[in-house]
Amino acid sequence: MRRPIVAANWKMHLGRVDQALALVRRIRLPLGRVEGVDVVLCPPFTVLASLAEVIGSKGVALGAQNMHWDDHGAQTGEISPSMLVGLCRYVIIGHSERRASGGSAESDGAVNRKVISALTHGLTPIICVGEDAARNEAGETDVFVGGQVRAALDGLSADDVGRVVLAYEPIWAIGTGRSATPAAANRTIALAVRGTIALGFGEAVAGAVRVQYGGSVNAQNIAGFMAMPEIDGALVGGASLQPEFVDLVTRAVAAR
Ligand code: PEP
Repeated sequence: MRRPIVAANWKMHLGRVDQALALVRRIRLPLGRVEGVDVVLCPPFTVLASLAEVIGSKGVALGAQNMHWDDHGAQTGEISPSMLVGLCRYVIIGHSERRASGGSAESDGAVNRKVISALTHGLTPIICVGEDAARNEAGETDVFVGGQVRAALDGLSADDVGRVVLAYEPIWAIGTGRSATPAAANRTIALAVRGTIALGFGEAVAGAVRVQYGGSVNAQNIAGFMAMPEIDGALVGGASLQPEFVDLVTRAVAAR
């Protein structure tokens, strides 16, 4: 039985300590009381250290939204994995908003290096994959998403694959209010995500990995996704910025 995991991607919001604390002080205790789910808050880097001091309740963890693969060096503006260790347990890697403008720093190869580096440092990567609207309409979703999964996990051991979380996020569904249908997301996760992992690492590994859906998830539609057998949780952007995020998490567990 895979434990559900719901992650909040705050993106470039609530990045001042007073803003972040205002939300976290309202949601921290109720989130900690929801049993049977891992909840991860991924705020901007600027508030990670402050939130690390107040987040301590069981079931709620912190994550970063990105990291470089190197530990240190002449990388102006970058955040290294060793800087994150001690501040957070998770790190989002390969979000489509970064892939879109990141060039070689966010290529499939770079995503793979980040995944390996995160695991080496004991961080859990939440690896984002997903097709754009053109590929979706052309019927290329499975091939494209399967390729992203294969590249991200290249060179990992089966044990390492068991430690990652994947997030299937169709780009056309992110921030648009137009989510994928639960059935379509379930199908893509089964075929393109778990199917690719099964080919590379075996059925048992594929069946054990946790896979989230992301793209316009909210408290009203989360139950439909959680009812699907292949979907283990959600990566949530806009709907994670309000106290109602607690309702979303509560409904996610209830629908399981
Ligand atoms: C995301 O940021 O990964 C995301 C899915 O955003 P939203 O929930 O706003 O679509």
